Amino acid sequence: MSTANKFVYLFGSIRTEGAAAMKNLLGGKGANLAEMCRLGIPVPSGFTISTESCTEFTERGQQHVLALIDSEVRRGVAFVEHEMGKRFGDANDPLLLSVRSGARASMPGMMDTILNLGLNDQAVAGLANRTGNERFAWDSYRRFVQMYGDVVMGLKPVSKEDHDPFEVVMDMVKAKRGVRLDTELDAGDLKELVARFKALIRARIGRDFPVDPWEQLWGAVISVFESWNNDRARVYRELNDIPQSWGTAVNVQAMVFGNLGDGSATGVAFTRDAGTGEDLFNGEFLVNAQGEDVVAGIRTPQQVSLVGSRRWAGLAMVGEDERRTSYPSLEELMPNIYAQLLQAETKLENHFKDMQDLEFTIQQGRLWMLQTRSGKRTGAAMVRIAIEMLQQGMIDEKTALMRVVPDRLNDLLHPIFDTQALKEAQVIARGLPASPGAASGQIVFFADEADDAARQGRAVILVRQETSPEDLRGMSVAKGILTARGGMTSHAAVVARGMGKCCVSGAGAVHVDYKARRMTIGQQSWAEGEWISLNGSTGEVFAGRIATRDAELSGDFGALMALASRHQRLEVRANADTPEEAALARKFGATGIGLCRTEHMFFEGGRINAMREMILADDEAGRRRALARLLPMQRADFEGLFREMSDLPVTIRLLDPPLHEFVPHDEAGQHVMAVEMKVSPGKIRMRVEELHEFNPMLGHRGCRLGITYPEITEMQSRAIFEAALDAQARGSNPKVEVMVPLVGSVREFNAQAAVIRRTAAQVFAERGAQLPYLLGTMIETPRAALVADSIGKQAEFFSFGTNDLTQMTMGFSRDDAGKFLPDYLKMGIYEREPFRSIDQKGVGLLVAMAVEKGRSVRPDIEIGVCGEHGGDPASVAFFHRTGLDYVSCSPFRVPIARLAAAQAALGD
Ligand code: ADP
Ligand code: MG
Ligand code: MG
Repeated sequence: MSTANKFVYLFGSIRTEGAAAMKNLLGGKGANLAEMCRLGIPVPSGFTISTESCTEFTERGQQHVLALIDSEVRRGVAFVEHEMGKRFGDANDPLLLSVRSGARASMPGMMDTILNLGLNDQAVAGLANRTGNERFAWDSYRRFVQMYGDVVMGLKPVSKEDHDPFEVVMDMVKAKRGVRLDTELDAGDLKELVARFKALIRARIGRDFPVDPWEQLWGAVISVFESWNNDRARVYRELNDIPQSWGTAVNVQAMVFGNLGDGSATGVAFTRDAGTGEDLFNGEFLVNAQGEDVVAGIRTPQQVSLVGSRRWAGLAMVGEDERRTSYPSLEELMPNIYAQLLQAETKLENHFKDMQDLEFTIQQGRLWMLQTRSGKRTGAAMVRIAIEMLQQGMIDEKTALMRVVPDRLNDLLHPIFDTQALKEAQVIARGLPASPGAASGQIVFFADEADDAARQGRAVILVRQETSPEDLRGMSVAKGILTARGGMTSHAAVVARGMGKCCVSGAGAVHVDYKARRMTIGQQSWAEGEWISLNGSTGEVFAGRIATRDAELSGDFGALMALASRHQRLEVRANADTPEEAALARKFGATGIGLCRTEHMFFEGGRINAMREMILADDEAGRRRALARLLPMQRADFEGLFREMSDLPVTIRLLDPPLHEFVPHDEAGQHVMAVEMKVSPGKIRMRVEELHEFNPMLGHRGCRLGITYPEITEMQSRAIFEAALDAQARGSNPKVEVMVPLVGSVREFNAQAAVIRRTAAQVFAERGAQLPYLLGTMIETPRAALVADSIGKQAEFFSFGTNDLTQMTMGFSRDDAGKFLPDYLKMGIYEREPFRSIDQKGVGLLVAMAVEKGRSVRPDIEIGVCGEHGGDPASVAFFHRTGLDYVSCSPFRVPIARLAAAQAALGD
């Protein structure tokens, strides 16, 4: 609970109490409205009720909070009345208000907004009189009753196939009048709508629409507080790691009207392109419209700039004449206003030093700014904007590096459609390139079904008329999103860019029939479950499934990575088993291989047979014969790795998994194996049964294999050293690191080290050549971490196998954790998935302890991590703080880990 006694902060032309720095208290929207007032940008005056009030509401209820804020809210309304020269509740010339939510972190569309508050049957007549525009007055009233009825009184669709009840009435009236757009309804129609809406509310809710403006205001404020806890807001916070405890502020503000005729408009704009990052002011607007009309995709919005308008026309296949007459840009339509808007956007971007997402309204030739915030953007835009702002001298290197969210680099590394496959693909529709990327998937029409399908591992494309905040979960699991309505600033577009998800919006040719679960384009139709593909960079929609290939990396990406290299201390190596993976890792800037899993080589082609022969062998001689067959294959593999990674360390782990993983467990497979091995199926079955373990993860694996079958270690060591000498002879500079897995006692390590050293000496003697190498161990059993000082006396490097270390420390296996881990995460028993992000307090403590013990006996011991955690930004930061030398992760995560390492270093 708070001790503050101020709950309301004014903003306006004569007085502003808040500022951008007060986001925690005023929410992002309120703080930035105040900041815009301070900058002298035209903002309708108003006041912000603090986030602490929302917390009071959640903790102590409605009566308590109303008593707390009553007098301050009344003072706020008096302030707005004074600024606007109108009275709230005045039936002849009413002051109308908007009531807007706004939390600390931006949650676009998550919570509710109410416009035109203060209208009733008397005030609407006054408003009509004053403006001389009866249609406008009733349009505003219609919108108010609809929003208030939905948000505050709770009149919503009954089921997901149902339409919004207000929209149903509206469609009916439109049909009756034979019109398509709501702008075509006249004052009489709008009056009829208000009457029908109120009747609907009375019938369904059992209460009358409130006529008293103050009752309306309190109802709206409370419902904004409540909206903090609605389902979609909760889901959004879960997906975006926003604490449930923050609460939202409430902004109460004088209305300005974009629906006051053809000289009025409302719009949304970005100071740079949120999709590509291009430094180009862009946005969309609608004439004679209000509020969310632009983003709701009710009418086709127009572009603010002429350049943007021409680009849009090209994509939407609208000819220049039609564009100029039906969809002119704001630049053409209202050049003066456009110039003011340009001035405001430049001022705001320069002030906040980041790409801004703006909301504005034009009332009869006058521009008002209604919101500014740092805009959501794709990973590619994130990188480009950071680098260009750095080059433009707006931000410094540190800010540029911190601006890019490491995980979002994934977007850039995403595959794109294979050019050849694309040539044969059939374009079935075009929409707007709302969020780049390539996606193929099966059609689903409902967000919850997308969720179910994704759980079954199916790739789906969510196809909707338009999306709404309820669809968030489904959007986050779909491969791509296609909407029939909506522009570049529609809900689907904004959210998809934020998620780095491929999205095509406003594909007008697409008709969605939710009841029949079909999508129709022209004469053709597609059922749920059929495959389509989307190109979010061009807006094309294709029939069927299209092959993809690796992305090409931009110069900005390279510049960002060069910046990262300058600041990172922690090195990033890659986990790679093949020369191809090694080459990719090197391209992404890996400075070595931190883990080569030798067993992965045993599954390919004829090798599995040699491996199985070894497993079937009854004695050492038999095993040696089989191993001799494997030797040349392993040697060739290793040589390829050494060649690709010349001059850089290559850490090769000796055989790790239990042998049963190499034999078939089903009868059919065993029969095939019997034929191939020329032995009886009975013998195979017997051997498989012998290999059976109750807890294979804790069984005969890791160095335990090499200790019981030293000839395996011998063969692998020989392959490594022979390959290294071969690579050296061919001009490469191999840096060999041999790694013993699953050690728990220094004696295990010593036993294996003896075999490896002896083999090395033999190979060097045979070849008459030698090379230096490091001999080290994984630290992946808790005991190894506990006795790391004794192991460190013998081992020349440590590599934390944080997957096994996590399993053994937590006491559950990764393969079985699926049964309870999701519940644990939901209940907050674990904050993060421990196999994805290292458990810093528990497993991390073992890591820190082993580092200290290792260094105490061997100050220059090389220490790294080769578990999945090496590619997780939060874990990378932890490993940086713990003083490791490197992390190793899959090639595709190398850039992410490098950026995370640089950010960790900047955080020191
Ligand atoms: P969100 O957080 O969902 O973006 P907002 O509070 O920004 O919701 O409100 C949505 C839209 O309502 C705004 O973009 C703007 O068009 C309109 N709006 C809000 N307040 C006003 C106002 N005082 N005058 C005119 N329009 C408003
Ligand atoms: Mg809203
Ligand atoms: Mg907004």
